[in-house]
Amino acid sequence: MAQVLNIRVDGADGLVGTDVPFHIYGDPDRGPTVSLMAGVHGCEYTSMLGLRRFLAGLDETALRGSLRVVPMANISAFHARAAFVVPNDGLNLNRCFPGDPNGSFSERLAHALFETVIRHADYHIDLHAGDQVEDLEPFTIYDASNVEEQSRAMAFAYGLGYVVRDSHSASPIAGTSSAAAAAAGIASITAEVGGRGLVDEISVRLHEEGIKRVLSMLGVLPGTFPPVPDPVELDHWVWLRSTDAGWWTSHVSVGDQVLAGTVVGTVSALDGSAVEEIIAPESGVPLFLTTSPAVAKDGLLLGLGVQ
Ligand SMILES: [Zn+2]
Repeated sequence: MAQVLNIRVDGADGLVGTDVPFHIYGDPDRGPTVSLMAGVHGCEYTSMLGLRRFLAGLDETALRGSLRVVPMANISAFHARAAFVVPNDGLNLNRCFPGDPNGSFSERLAHALFETVIRHADYHIDLHAGDQVEDLEPFTIYDASNVEEQSRAMAFAYGLGYVVRDSHSASPIAGTSSAAAAAAGIASITAEVGGRGLVDEISVRLHEEGIKRVLSMLGVLPGTFPPVPDPVELDHWVWLRSTDAGWWTSHVSVGDQVLAGTVVGTVSALDGSAVEEIIAPESGVPLFLTTSPAVAKDGLLLGLGVQ
C-alpha cells in the first residue's frame, strides 16, 4: 500500500496555508526512485487525470524501485480555477523552483515540493497541459544540464510529437521544476499534453501512457511498449508577446509550420483600431497559443519551437 503523507505549507499574514497530499509507492531498495508531479498549474486537467489513472491501475508489487507522487501540487489554484498562478500570491509556481523557505507562499510551496519530493528522486517527471486559455501541440521539454542525455531519453520515451531542449541562457522559463531538478543532477522532463481547460480522453491517455513508457524505459515498471516514431527535436523557443493590451486574433494553429516573417496574428485596440501585427522572427512550430482574445500589455501570445 502506498504511504500517504501531507506536505504542510503555512499561510502568511492570516491567509490560509495548504496541505499537499504526497504518496510514496514501492521500495527504493529495489531500484530507482522517480518523482511524478501534476497540477503545478491548477487548470491543466489532462495531466492531473492522466496521473490519477496511472496510479489507479498501478500494481505496486511490480515496481522495481519507488515513486514519489504529488497528484495535485497547486490545490488553491485548482479550487479557484486560477490559470497560470497561485492565488495566494499571484506567482507562477513553475517559475519558483527550487523555491525559498523564507519567500512568499509560492516560493515556500516550491521549496517544500522540491525538498520533500524531488530532491530524493533519481528521475523527475512534471506533467502539464496548456492552461485554461492555452491551446497546445503535445511536446516534452528537457533542460541543458549534466544529466541531459538521460533527460532526453526520458523525453523520447514519453512518446509525444515534439521534444524541446531548453538551454538556460536563451530560455524564457527559468524556475521550472524540471530545470531545478536537472540543475540538482536529477534527470527530468516536463510533459505537455491537452489544454483549454478541457478533459479530453486522447490527451489523458497520452499522459498515462507516457508515464508508463518512461517508467518501463527506466526499468521501474516491467514490460515494454511498442516503439513510437522519433519526435521532432527543437532546440530553442521564441515567445511572442503583445506590445499593448488589447484583442488578440491568431492567424495560425498549434502544430502549423510557420515561416520567418509570417504574420501569425494581430493585437488590436478594443474598438478595432490600431492593429499591431505579430510577426514570426524565425521559422518554427507554434507549440502553444493563447486562445483568449484578451491580452495584457506585454502579454504572452504564442510559443514558437525552433529547430
Ligand atoms: Zn503548466
